[in-house]
Amino acid sequence: MIEKRQGAVKQITSHSNPIVKEIKGLVAQRKHRSQSGLFVAEGLKLATDALEAGWGVRYLALGPEARDNPVAQKAAAAAKARGALILEASTAVMSAMTRKDNPQMVVGVYEQKLLGARDIDPAGTTLWVALDRVRDPGNLGTIIRTVDAVGGAGVMLVGDCTDPFAVEAVRATMGSLFHVPLAKLGKDEFKSLAEKWPGTVAATHLKGSVDYRTPDYAEPVLLVMGNEQKGLEDDMAAACRTLIRIPQVGQADSLNLAVATGVALYEIRRKHLEL
Ligand code: SAM
Repeated sequence: MIEKRQGAVKQITSHSNPIVKEIKGLVAQRKHRSQSGLFVAEGLKLATDALEAGWGVRYLALGPEARDNPVAQKAAAAAKARGALILEASTAVMSAMTRKDNPQMVVGVYEQKLLGARDIDPAGTTLWVALDRVRDPGNLGTIIRTVDAVGGAGVMLVGDCTDPFAVEAVRATMGSLFHVPLAKLGKDEFKSLAEKWPGTVAATHLKGSVDYRTPDYAEPVLLVMGNEQKGLEDDMAAACRTLIRIPQVGQADSLNLAVATGVALYEIRRKHLEL
């Protein structure tokens, strides 16, 4: 059980402290994350992003280097004011929590936020990306980061996807997790949303007949991406109005999912982005 003491500072020196065990569980197991609705994000930048974006913070663990770091102290004060328990820990305890030899100086435990199909309102938005059964946490995190970079409105996780709150996925977002809304949808929910979607519904597909550089991508855009191994399921592809393809030469069968998403997103947003 997670200890409920909040808005206080606690020294932690022992690896067998129940909070240390709980954080280890959140790092290692999806079951712990989904049961508690919490997740772990490592690093001061992510703590700052989470606090600025108003995410709920349960614990903020600070290693010894954080004690002389004004940005870390500011984050700790903000987290404490928001009811978090601040954990002052040794490097060995920080290492044990995160299962890393070189832990970050700050490790946060935050409250998950995941929208449902009914929360998605495409009106007035730029674009959403829908991912069919994305499996790789690095791909998912990279896609969330890229959607943030192009000013997208959010990412839909359709079907059995990897956990967006897994440490590897969170790390790959580089903080964008705290700025890009995520939604979890069943396949039927996706199909009915796609049917009613007011703008462009384009899926990237290896059998697509439309060069991805040719549509005008009327907003809001729903860009749909297939699974890493199996591509997009046939009935999901049938729910999309256009199947676009990125031309390839050479021997590669396909592009990596996150690369294909980035290439398509930058084309879709090309007219809206400038230095
Ligand atoms: N074997 C899979 C297949 O048959 O579709 C390959 C999947 S690919 C690694 C993952 C996803 O990236 C695809 O489902 C598609 O959404 C996108 N993708 C990769 N390369 C693409 C390309 N050249 N054109 C369009 N989409 C592409």
